[in-house]
Amino acid sequence: MRHIQKAVVIGSGVMGSGIAAHLANIGIPSLLLDIVPKELTEAEQAKGLTLESPQVRNRLSQGAVQKLFKQKPAPLASKSNAALITAGNLEDHMDQLGKADWIIEVVVENLDVKKKVFEKVDQYRKPGSIVSSNTSGISIEAMVEGRSEDFSKHFLGTHFFNPPRYLKLLEVIPASSTDPEVVQFMKTFGEDTLGKGVVFAKDTPNFIANRIGTYGLLVTVKEMLKSGYSVGEVDSVTGPLIGRPKSATFRTLDVVGLDTFIHVAKNVYDQVDGEEKEVFDVPDFMLKMRDNGWLGSKSGQGFFKKEGKEILQLNPETLEYEARGKLKAASVEMAKQEKGFSGKMKTLVYGKDRASELLWSILAPVLVYSAELNGEIADDITGIDQAMKWGFGWGKGPFETWDAIGVAKSVERMKAEGLNVPEWVEDMIANGHDSFYKEENGDLFFFHDGAYQPVQENAKVIDLKRLKKKNGVIKKNSGASLIDLGDGVALLEFTSPNNAIGMDITQMINYAVDEVSKNYKGLVIGNQGKNFCVGANLAMILMEAQDDNIFEIDMVVKHFQQAMMKLKYSSFPVVAAPFGMTLGGGTEVCLPADHIQASAETYMGLVEVGVGLIPGGGGNKELYLNYYNSLPKGVDFDLQKVANRVFEMIAMAKVSTSAAEARDYNFLSQSDGISVNGDHLIYDAKQAVLHLAENYTTPVKKKVPVVGEPGYATLLLGAQSMYQSGFISEHDLKIAKKLAYVIAGGKVPYGTEVDEEYLLQLEREAFLSLIEKPKSQQRMQHMLVKGKPLRN
Ligand code: NAD
Repeated sequence: MRHIQKAVVIGSGVMGSGIAAHLANIGIPSLLLDIVPKELTEAEQAKGLTLESPQVRNRLSQGAVQKLFKQKPAPLASKSNAALITAGNLEDHMDQLGKADWIIEVVVENLDVKKKVFEKVDQYRKPGSIVSSNTSGISIEAMVEGRSEDFSKHFLGTHFFNPPRYLKLLEVIPASSTDPEVVQFMKTFGEDTLGKGVVFAKDTPNFIANRIGTYGLLVTVKEMLKSGYSVGEVDSVTGPLIGRPKSATFRTLDVVGLDTFIHVAKNVYDQVDGEEKEVFDVPDFMLKMRDNGWLGSKSGQGFFKKEGKEILQLNPETLEYEARGKLKAASVEMAKQEKGFSGKMKTLVYGKDRASELLWSILAPVLVYSAELNGEIADDITGIDQAMKWGFGWGKGPFETWDAIGVAKSVERMKAEGLNVPEWVEDMIANGHDSFYKEENGDLFFFHDGAYQPVQENAKVIDLKRLKKKNGVIKKNSGASLIDLGDGVALLEFTSPNNAIGMDITQMINYAVDEVSKNYKGLVIGNQGKNFCVGANLAMILMEAQDDNIFEIDMVVKHFQQAMMKLKYSSFPVVAAPFGMTLGGGTEVCLPADHIQASAETYMGLVEVGVGLIPGGGGNKELYLNYYNSLPKGVDFDLQKVANRVFEMIAMAKVSTSAAEARDYNFLSQSDGISVNGDHLIYDAKQAVLHLAENYTTPVKKKVPVVGEPGYATLLLGAQSMYQSGFISEHDLKIAKKLAYVIAGGKVPYGTEVDEEYLLQLEREAFLSLIEKPKSQQRMQHMLVKGKPLRN
């Protein structure tokens, strides 16, 4: 069995350092190498260093590691992960290549440079180790030319997207010499260990995503020039409106950097002919922008430029910046009212206004182009769709989009407008098939070689929507469903708007506990929404509070607390599967579970103070218990420190920037699991349930010592001085006092052992007293209306 225990990353630039960070995040140590500088910097001279000093010789890679701490979004899931990256250089550390199982080349995009690097790698690597290139589009076949047989068998392209931690796509590009075992290994390793979405690409210019993505961007730029749209107008309809990222078209180009984009476009331009070549011919105004150094975000201006608080757009005719435009059109307004993607897209592309004309004229050529390249750049349409979704963040790939607007209808219009629709698409329609995909009983098929074939998926991918179509649901209400995951495991899924927790979810939890205890081995709490859960149903709580229905709120909170206790002390294992934003009540649902299986990208926190409250569903107690239980047994420790830490986490509404950090913050314990591949989360959580169910016993209720009255005063010291120095408001201090009282365990002597019910009651009382305060209600209102906290 092949294992990657050690890696070498050659090239410590943007991508090399990002890849080394990603490897560190998943626990793989790497050696990061770069070239040896030829001159000393002034600072190095001042320190008396010479060209022989290791600090100088490792300057590039060492500097790259330091930069990782400052970059945003953070490449490191936890700062401590940087310890897994060793900085070195391409002269002094080549012998280390012999210890690596995987050597990944990430140097400048230049065939000669890359070939020279590989020549050296060939001399130093151990036989059998994998060597790959992160090239964006240079031929893999050309890079391996002249290398030894063992090298050639173990060489392939592994194309990560920027930033490597966050972008899901990994294009794997075999050469003709690559051993199929290596190709298959990279797919499994890429998905299961690196957490990526792996797509096999063929060795063609720019592979899949950059080929189609660059084409689409250039078609859009040219349509803008031809029909006189503005940069802002284009971006206002090519982003979230059509299921694509907020950065839409031109902001995406600004982020990528115009120099990089032109380089990538030219790579295709140089290798293709005819109409396609024309599209890849970058318009003059963009070349001028590059020459002016207006490269985008990295140079402070590009298609957009920030002036004060205003964002200006570039006028491509005059090359001057002007007020940002926005396309206002009836089709846009109507599309926003439509619920599903298909309805939205049909309304948009078949409308008759300027937005519709633009969208149709930039979409149709990309669909046709994708169909033309099917089989040439990817094995089938699924590879193209996945690559665009994972690499460019499109909500739907080209063929899924085509299905959404109706294939037969759109093809008719394309042909009428003179587009060359590939024959295989016309044949598909002629044979009575009006879609590239179809679903039957929850199974997904795609059109390939004249017939529908099952879509191949990693067995660890469980799609809840399709699973429900297949198995139905055990029970559902307006906010949640209970589903049979198979093998005796049930899943409780939140389905309310934004997965906000209300009475319907609490009821379903109660039902789930009864049902699972009778008929299942255990329960997963998870979902596949945008975020796991961003908290309680604030609108409902605020409405009741404004109507002075404190009794009602008391009931709701009590029910929620009881449901959490039922989960905690049930007769079966409960595994929570958070991902994305898991805030407030979302965190509170996870904490009582026997095990948390979190996606690596989980942003967890008890953020209630932001809306003028404190956690009311057991969050204070559970975080305190988590921290308390993480301390070694039988060793003397300072209980006050436990209280201080929990107080600080909640008072400052700390949110983890990853699951690893959630562990540093004690939201997760050491034994909780992290799923690097978010698409495997439900599967991993289910396995955790099955594992725990093997010999599960219900936890025994235990008392816990608290810091009591003397500790309360200590907790408040910091908050009081912050108030006196004007850092926090009077209302902040009021909230801090309530929180301190709850965490201290009320007015009891230091070290008193209390039970959980007592702590829950303190929590509930504090929560209710805060909810009555007008300033807390103002905070809630502000959050609901503006989506951000109010400082009052
Ligand atoms: P970069 O310019 O940030 O880094 C390139 C690194 O190569 C630098 O650290 C440089 O010191 C090193 N280098 C230069 N000359 C060298 C030589 N002769 N021998 C060894 N090393 C040398 O570039 P990058 O953006 O990190 O791109 C690296 C590779 O990744 C390229 O092949 C690029 O096409 C590809 N890529 C880039 C992106 C992206 O968005 N930037 C995305 C995917 C793939």
